[in-house]
Amino acid sequence: MLTVYELRSRISKLPRVSLGHFPTPIEFCPRLTEAVGGPRIFIKRDDCTGLAFGGNKTRQLEFTVGQGVHHEADVLIGGAGSQSNHCRQLSAAAAKLGLECRIAVVEDHKAEESKGNLLLDDLLGASVQTVDVPTQEELDVAKEQVASDVRSEGKNPFVVMKPENRPYGAMGYALAVAEMSEQMDALGERVDAIVGCSGSCTQPGMIFGNKVLGLGARVYGIAPIEWSYDIKDAFLGVLNRMVELLGVDLAFDREDVWNSPDYIGSEGYGYCSEAGNEALRLMATTEGVILDPIYTGKALSGLIDLAKKGELGSDETVVFLHTGGTPALFAYTEELLGKA
Ligand SMILES: *Cc1c(COP(=O)(O)O)cnc(C)c1O
Repeated sequence: MLTVYELRSRISKLPRVSLGHFPTPIEFCPRLTEAVGGPRIFIKRDDCTGLAFGGNKTRQLEFTVGQGVHHEADVLIGGAGSQSNHCRQLSAAAAKLGLECRIAVVEDHKAEESKGNLLLDDLLGASVQTVDVPTQEELDVAKEQVASDVRSEGKNPFVVMKPENRPYGAMGYALAVAEMSEQMDALGERVDAIVGCSGSCTQPGMIFGNKVLGLGARVYGIAPIEWSYDIKDAFLGVLNRMVELLGVDLAFDREDVWNSPDYIGSEGYGYCSEAGNEALRLMATTEGVILDPIYTGKALSGLIDLAKKGELGSDETVVFLHTGGTPALFAYTEELLGKA
């Protein structure tokens, strides 16, 4: 186990760029708590990281773009679904650092409309191309193609989000857990559980931080997407690499990972779920806080369901991680108004 000081000092040896406003606020949600009728709910406002509307990618990019800068890249390459929050924050990071940004997005059901994140990518100066592949897992080839085009122009590309970079991205969330624990200590609160949306970096980072600091909280991940591979194996790969990178004496196993695909909704990734949209409205009308329909609304619907099932006890204290994603709202107005 490490102290917060030791964790920060080990992570500080890694290449990093400064992109966000930290610490993000943490707030008690009294009216949401009452409406849910379960555990006491706090919200960690990582929608307020400051980088082009904020979100969880800001903390990850400090380290993944840090790798790119370390490799002297002059072009950053990203790719994901068309309403990608990662691509929007990557575009902003590139602009802030004076680097070029090229993005490949899946030609999905939101790729036609230049709304939400696609509009922001354009305003931030990224060049965006749509690729006709069925899912974002097939984008790796397209991203490598962009990288080879960049090389043939005599420039140095860096593909930001590939599997080997995930452990670096996750470092941002090991630090976020340290930050959260200091904030809750200062409020005289102990954290029984953390709930947040994650499918790649955020939750492994939190699992790592929680265990290495000995906080003893349960970390619940609500998946936004169902991958073709086993998510526990993928998370353990990230965790084991973090152990290596930081030289800590810790071991992780499948028991350390709780991640559920049960709240994605019947239409899958990138589509709204009824329960998610209801949860989004509940948060908005009880706390005046806006969630997004694809990640955080679904994550809150998961929290509410876990409270109903008694998995989160009514005498417990839960931190709900707001991972951002709000600009995508404006690409889903019909669905949110119940007209689609
Ligand atoms: C990307 C994203 C997530 C998932 O993050 P992971 O890196 O997969 O853990 C959750 N919420 C929002 C709003 C996102 O944009």
